[in-house]
Amino acid sequence: GVHGVRLDSGAAPPPGPVALVLQDVTEVRRGEAVRRDFVANVGHELKTPVGALALLAEALEDAADDPETVRRFATRAGRETERLGRLVRELIDLSRLQGGEPLPELEPVQVDTVIAEAVDRTRTAASAKQMVIATGGEHGLVVRGVEAQLATAVTNLLANAVAYSPEETKIAVAARARSGFAEIAVTDSGIGIPRADRSRIFERFYRVDQSRASRTGGTGLGLAIVKHVASNHGGSVTVWSEEGVGSTFTLRIPLAAGGVPDPDTAIEIE
Ligand code: ADP
Repeated sequence: GVHGVRLDSGAAPPPGPVALVLQDVTEVRRGEAVRRDFVANVGHELKTPVGALALLAEALEDAADDPETVRRFATRAGRETERLGRLVRELIDLSRLQGGEPLPELEPVQVDTVIAEAVDRTRTAASAKQMVIATGGEHGLVVRGVEAQLATAVTNLLANAVAYSPEETKIAVAARARSGFAEIAVTDSGIGIPRADRSRIFERFYRVDQSRASRTGGTGLGLAIVKHVASNHGGSVTVWSEEGVGSTFTLRIPLAAGGVPDPDTAIEIE
């Protein structure tokens, strides 16, 4: 960076250590820039629902003698408040996951339980769109992890599958053991993700289509949370997608010792 150029133009500095220091400065700078961007993004994201609520409050005052309008505005105020609440909750989740707090002890966690919990939490949203969530794959897998975090991650994937799919389509969530990992795959027949966006959707606040995402009430933090949960567990999350066909998100989490119940179904030779 700038520092490197300035130093290099002077007397030759001792090579190794200086390079190391410059590297550190660059890292710190980058960290600062990322934090600044993040705060700016948070501010922007908070502004939208807060602005909407302010307008609605004003409109409610004016509409006081028209019960139908009052009801309509009140419903919208409720929706905006919900969105604000979700944003705040997810920001807190994300800041916990990003470090600062030590990771709770990893314990044996049943994948079946994680999936059941996530399906439970998404069922209402799915039925509202006449969508069915099918579960399948291997049962009895055990991973090393934090159950609440894993349930949040799978819930976020399922919630996206519902949000970005047309009504009356099907979602599948399936687990299998592979190379020491449990793979939990969430597949939808939704709108898919353009190739150019695929590598960026795990970034905080990144959305393929801002207007569409705000209609669905998204915060742009769901996949960033999934990514942090995966990396906290020594795992990963990947996406396969085709526009107009659908998407599959695969979460990989290390199996606990003896986490595979039946070697015949678990070991696959490619
Ligand atoms: P959001 O709250 O906007 O859903 P996410 O971090 O969960 O934020 O996802 C980031 C973006 O990735 C979404 O805005 C959407 O454009 C895209 N996306 C995520 N999951 C899917 C999916 N299953 N199908 C299509 N697009 C998706």
